[in-house]
Amino acid sequence: MGDYFGKDTFKLGFGMMRLPHLPDGENDQAQINEMADIFISGGGTYVDTAFVYDGGKSEEAVRKAFVERYPRDSFTIATKLNARVAKDEEDAKAQLATSLKRLGTDYLDFYLLHAVSDDNYQQYCDYHLWDFIKQKKEEGVLRNIGFSYHGTPECLDRILTEHKVDFMQLQINYADMDAPNVQSRRCWETARKHGVSVTVMEPVKGGALANPHESITKIFKEYNPSASMASWAIRYVASMDGIITVLSGMSNLEQMMDNMSYMREFRPLDEQEQAVVKAAQDAMKRVPSIACTACHYCTEGCPMSIPIPEIFAAMNRNIMFNMIDKAQRDYARATEGKGKASECLQCGQCEGACPQHLPIIELLQDCASALEV
Ligand code: SF4
Ligand code: SF4
Repeated sequence: MGDYFGKDTFKLGFGMMRLPHLPDGENDQAQINEMADIFISGGGTYVDTAFVYDGGKSEEAVRKAFVERYPRDSFTIATKLNARVAKDEEDAKAQLATSLKRLGTDYLDFYLLHAVSDDNYQQYCDYHLWDFIKQKKEEGVLRNIGFSYHGTPECLDRILTEHKVDFMQLQINYADMDAPNVQSRRCWETARKHGVSVTVMEPVKGGALANPHESITKIFKEYNPSASMASWAIRYVASMDGIITVLSGMSNLEQMMDNMSYMREFRPLDEQEQAVVKAAQDAMKRVPSIACTACHYCTEGCPMSIPIPEIFAAMNRNIMFNMIDKAQRDYARATEGKGKASECLQCGQCEGACPQHLPIIELLQDCASALEV
């Protein structure tokens, strides 16, 4: 399949992981529908969800916003099977039927084994899920099969040698290209070596690059005062070779409109703009922060219901911006009615689930010292 998608696909994908909610916790479907309308009318096609997103509400939102309102062949759906939340092989395979039902469709354009890494690759093999998706592709239920990946380039090389896939999904953003816990560049090079095209997740690093440290903002603003920080991040990855589309997890209309404003007629970064990003990357190495992408994989099984990503976001305000009062207020709000950082039992469940391989237990101890008053 190689570069086929890379040439023809609109370079912005609608990531439906962080959708807007109403105060009662339900999807703000009216706003999601409006976001879908802007996306489709601007030329967007690739809609990305997963079995586990928002307990199934994300897949339902896709059905309501797209499947029930647009011809099925005017957009493509990507969703994912997650072995980690399955009780056994049968339970894992049953996720496909549940996803099809929630989505109101009898086929999927893109189907991924979800968040594969060095730690869980064997589980995906033991459950025969690679064969399962190949078989479902032969049956016509799945059009393109692949996996999303959060592991080392070495393990990725092994997977791509052992399994033929149509595409894959990687975390790539200008801050993580050479970050030791992500290694975006080497993973991307490995995919390209195998001739596999890539959809990109976390181009804005869970929102962090939409509002980076002031020293980074200054570099971008000096070059172009009107371009948003997110536009630099998304255009950077969309300019790379072999990219099918760049998924942006959009949470409101404003983000959709901003993204569409520069992706409707996508222009790759030119040489001067590439140099600006390089300067920002160099400056970023001098700014310390916790590299959490707020994916929430760590929180599902935490026996103390500790809101880990929200605590790290509060801590980052402290370490990146020296805003200790604001960080303590954010921490107090995040932990109200939930577990506190100091209540961590050090069971390690969260560290096994973290795709960024963060030393969560140790970081929580730092957070407790700095933010609990
Ligand atoms: S190590 Fe601490 S934060 Fe992590 S799952 Fe266990 S109790 Fe929760
Ligand atoms: S600590 Fe890791 S698993 Fe938890 S939200 Fe952050 S990146 Fe995701």
